[in-house]
This record gives sequence, C-alpha cells and structure tokens, in this order.
Amino acid sequence: MARLFSGGPLVIASHNPGKIREIRDLLLPFGAEILAAAELDLPEPAETGRSFVANAEIKALAAATVSGHPALADDSGLVVAALRNQPGIYSARWAGPEKDFAKAMAEVETRLSGIIDRRGHFACALALAWPDGHVETFEGTVYGHLVWPPRGDRGFGYDPMFVPNGYDVTFGEMAPELKHRISHRAEAFRKLVDGCFRQPAPA
Ligand code: IMP
Repeated sequence: MARLFSGGPLVIASHNPGKIREIRDLLLPFGAEILAAAELDLPEPAETGRSFVANAEIKALAAATVSGHPALADDSGLVVAALRNQPGIYSARWAGPEKDFAKAMAEVETRLSGIIDRRGHFACALALAWPDGHVETFEGTVYGHLVWPPRGDRGFGYDPMFVPNGYDVTFGEMAPELKHRISHRAEAFRKLVDGCFRQPAPA
C-alpha cells in the first residue's frame, strides 16, 4: 500500500507556474499547504534519469531533502514509436532554451517524413517523495496520432500536432476541461490521489 500524505506543507518541485497552479487546484481538498519550489528558492537538479519515472524521482527527492517537507514532481513528454520513442524524456529539450515548440514539432514532422506509422503518446510520471527518502510514483498515458500542420492554440508544447484516440481534434483545439479529463497527467493524478491522498472515512 502506498504511503499516505498526512497533511501540512507539500512542495511542488517545479518552476513552471502553469503546472503549480494545476496541482494546487487539484490537491486543495486534501489539506495540503502547497509551496512552490521557486518560492523556496530550491535549485533545479539535473534530469539525468533514463525514464520519466527516474526523472520525476530525482526532482521530488531533491526538493524533499532540501526543504524537509514532502515534495511532488512531474516529468512528462511525447513518445513517438516510429522515432524509437523520441523525443521522450528530451521533449522539453527539443524546443531549445528558447522553448520554441513550433521548432520542436517541425523536428518531429521532419523525422517522420515518409513514415506511415504516425502513432504517438504522451506519458506523465508523478513522484511524491518524503524527506526520509521514501518515494511513491504513478504513471499515466494517452495514446493518439500525430497530424501536420499543427492545429489549435489552446494547449502547450506538442498539443497542436496530437490527436487523442477517439477524437478528431488536436489537444491544441480541444476545450481544456476535456483535455484535463483524458490526459496522461489526469490519469497519473487520479492514481496519485487514490494512492496517497485518500480522505479519512467519515466517523
Ligand atoms: P518536463 O517539464 O521536463 O516534464 O517537460 C515536459 C515537456 O513535455 C513539456 O515541455 C512539453 O514539451 C511536453 N509535454 C508534456 N505534457 C504535455 C502535454 O500535455 N501537451 C503537450 N506537450 C506536453
């Protein structure tokens, strides 16, 4: 059984304000006092892991150890089967320091030229770590295929070229509420909440 979060401060080991807002909203009902890594001036560790889970663990453990509080980290990306699972854990890095996702999507498209298999999926790993070194991890995926040219401006990252299975719009065109119900991150969060944030049964 997963270790339960027992309330009090919870550090979000991310410097991305969008991610922090999403996580704060999601965990509000569970009595967590959310602290952002940037507010605490926590350093960003090098993401040297070879999987989403390994990188989420590195980020969560670093934040928990330095802050002395439980810490939650998220690592995610786009996995393309025909590109031997690239960009994968390097999804953010393909956009360069200027975070140019038009460039990153064009790179995916260039490498896919002449390839019929356009399947892709988004993967998300969440790690919740405690200062004593205990870590719980949870994963989510959403499968789909890649389209070109990119469509829609409602999401972020690779959303405009990703159509989830069962839909004919990209994540960039989809209403955010729907994306947040079916996404890789939504699945990982459901597992996290089930595993570590169960509310006590009413007396
Ligand atoms: P991280 O912040 O190091 O985990 O990098 C995740 C990267 O994966 C993001 O910068 C995006 O490029 C990509 N990514 C992850 N989740 C999504 C998503 O829901 N839509 C589009 N791109 C995503």
